[in-house]
Amino acid sequence: MNVVTLAGGIGGARFLRGLRATVDPRSSTITVIGNTGDDLTLHGLRVCPDLDTVMYTLGGGIDEERGWGRADETWQVKEELAAYGVEPAWFGLGDRDVATHLVRTRMLDAGYPLSAVTEALCVRWSPGVRLLPMSDDRVETHVLVDLPEGRRAIHFQEWWIKHGARLPAAGFVPVGAEDATPAPGVLAAIAAADVILVAPSNPVVSIGVILAVPGIRDAIRSAAAPVVGLSPIVGGAPVRGMADACLAAIGVDSSAAAVGQHYGARAGGGGGGGLLDGWLVHDGDADTTVPEVRVLAVPLLMTDPAAAAAMARAALDLAADLSR
Ligand code: GDP
Ligand code: CA
Repeated sequence: MNVVTLAGGIGGARFLRGLRATVDPRSSTITVIGNTGDDLTLHGLRVCPDLDTVMYTLGGGIDEERGWGRADETWQVKEELAAYGVEPAWFGLGDRDVATHLVRTRMLDAGYPLSAVTEALCVRWSPGVRLLPMSDDRVETHVLVDLPEGRRAIHFQEWWIKHGARLPAAGFVPVGAEDATPAPGVLAAIAAADVILVAPSNPVVSIGVILAVPGIRDAIRSAAAPVVGLSPIVGGAPVRGMADACLAAIGVDSSAAAVGQHYGARAGGGGGGGLLDGWLVHDGDADTTVPEVRVLAVPLLMTDPAAAAAMARAALDLAADLSR
């Protein structure tokens, strides 16, 4: 069985850990199409936060409490940079993490595409999945914010981390997406998939940005495999993080129903380029309906790896049911 999953950072990575525990590696493959819209260059280093969160989580190197970055991290590089007064100082650049960015930057500078660099980094971490960036082309999500001096576009990370997503956002622009092409293997994996899953990741800046790469949405829409999504919104709020601020900026309610509808039905007369055949929502959101999408309520809180594995099992079961 070939399982393809669209994933952002923390929500995606924790779900993938459950998925990996659920499928039999002897007869199955998991291909992850990861968001790179959060990527940024810091002090000359190329940083790919979501790819690294997936790689570290699946490779056993993640800081479980924070959900991002390396376990047993220290922060001396960051402190030394701050002592020089160089900006940006708000990004959590850990000492162990820096090694990853050094390797990545050196390989990119030598001409390797991000997909090849990611594959090389994963040799160390053995994540048990094939981790593909959505594109080898540079795509950076910018946030439109209204400041006293007028409307400005700032890097997503600046809005998310420095401003804590508190500056009201007027929209998101995946800069570079329209000229980007899917990374090698992305479209082929979608076409060959037996199941396509949309992880419980940020619908706007994780999944939405992956879908902004021309060709990916169409490939999913025309894939033979059933498409099942998992809601990152539980009881009217994100389980973790500030996805509600992102949804508000694009005029979508923070509810499992609204996000399901935003993704839309693949089938039927909607005609709106929808994606989903099935939508998993949390137990407490069992009254959710999405036109022309099979909605199923199961526990969706990834309190531990076993809970994430049960979610993955439920998603695969729903997909199997949909393909009957
Ligand atoms: P980021 O890139 O690190 O922000 O991570 P993602 O985009 O992959 O995931 C962020 C989303 O994961 C947030 O909107 C959370 O609501 C969601 N999330 C985190 N933990 C859980 C969980 O236990 N259950 C569900 N359903 N969603 C979760
Ligand atoms: Ca992210």
